[in-house]
Amino acid sequence: MAIVVDEAVFSPSYVPDKLPHRDEQLRQLHLLLSGWLQSPGQHYPRVTLIGRPGTGKTVTIRKLWEMYRERSKAKFIYINGFIFRNFTAIINEIARSLGIPFPRRGLSRDEFLALLIEHLRERDLYAFMVFDDAFNISPDILSTFIRLGQEVDKLGAFRVALAVVGHSDTLLNNLDPSTRGIMGKYVIRFNPYTKDQIFDILLDRAKMGLAEGSYSEEILQMISDITGAQSPLDAHKGDARLAIDILYRSAYIAQQSGRRQIMPEDVRKASKEVLFGVSEEVLVGLPLHEKLLLLAIVRTLKTSHTPYATFGEAEETYKMICEEHGEKPRVHSQLWTYLNDLKEKGIIETRQNRKGEGVRGRTTLISIGTEPLDTLESVLIRIIREELK
Ligand code: ADP
Ligand code: MG
Repeated sequence: MAIVVDEAVFSPSYVPDKLPHRDEQLRQLHLLLSGWLQSPGQHYPRVTLIGRPGTGKTVTIRKLWEMYRERSKAKFIYINGFIFRNFTAIINEIARSLGIPFPRRGLSRDEFLALLIEHLRERDLYAFMVFDDAFNISPDILSTFIRLGQEVDKLGAFRVALAVVGHSDTLLNNLDPSTRGIMGKYVIRFNPYTKDQIFDILLDRAKMGLAEGSYSEEILQMISDITGAQSPLDAHKGDARLAIDILYRSAYIAQQSGRRQIMPEDVRKASKEVLFGVSEEVLVGLPLHEKLLLLAIVRTLKTSHTPYATFGEAEETYKMICEEHGEKPRVHSQLWTYLNDLKEKGIIETRQNRKGEGVRGRTTLISIGTEPLDTLESVLIRIIREELK
């Protein structure tokens, strides 16, 4: 008998009826955007959503649009920063969403923009643009679209409403001061979910997608305990996506073993298959050679007898991995940049060695505290294969 009765409930694009613990964020979004969405043209609303992965930013913005789509003249333009990164890709996606014919290439940036502006004006279109996970898009490209909404003279009205989504304030700080000024102070924050909050989210999901009697509150509590944040500052916890993923995998494992109920052992197995502090999305978004370097760090750590790998060791392994994949190794300074980025993203930790630590001279020690290395390795290998296909 099936435990998972509705697969769609567990798909990433599913928007549930209720969003427990996001009332305040939804209320602020309504406040900023409802006027424009119902009767656009009078002003240029813009908002930034900040929160770690899995804190409900994407689903909340989708929910907001769901509530207005029937009565809004505006079109919803959703740009996923992991997929659409360069200017041409983004502007083509905007044109596609608006249903306007557009040359795919062959124009300069300014010509593309001018064409978009002309179409918006001539066709009397309004666009609610969402730049999700916008830290993948370079600040100058993002700025171009932030400034677009201000072109009232050319557009003949305020034709754009804008939401920009990111993980941290770096997103705004990377913008040039005048563009940052345009985004202003309209920031909505999404804190990591606590254990109790995750529990509520899981309970709703289980009711919608799993067979009655297949899960107990203890099972949901167990998943909430391992994924929920202790406090809002708990940097690597509070990811609802991870919690839902573990619930789904647990259900699947129980089902595969021919049982009708999820047992604690299923949850334990399921949690070994997933990453905790690092979101897979973020890994996918890394440049290829940053992924290869990370794989090298993981492999070095696996064979190391200490909790640390030196940068030199990681670089050696990296060169071997490049050879394995027929890739030309990047130069040392580039690898440094990647190392710093991995640190910035919270995937690795680094520090300088101390005297008497068995390493000669000054060197950088790298460690990974949060992830089971085997899982991280297999996820990386899968993603890298996918990319090199
Ligand atoms: P983010 O965009 O912040 O990374 P998402 O909005 O994609 O996070 O949420 C991750 C997953 O958790 C999605 O499946 C989403 O439906 C679910 N989710 C997040 N917050 C809630 C909530 N408050 N209620 C119900 N489901 C939620
Ligand atoms: Mg998201």
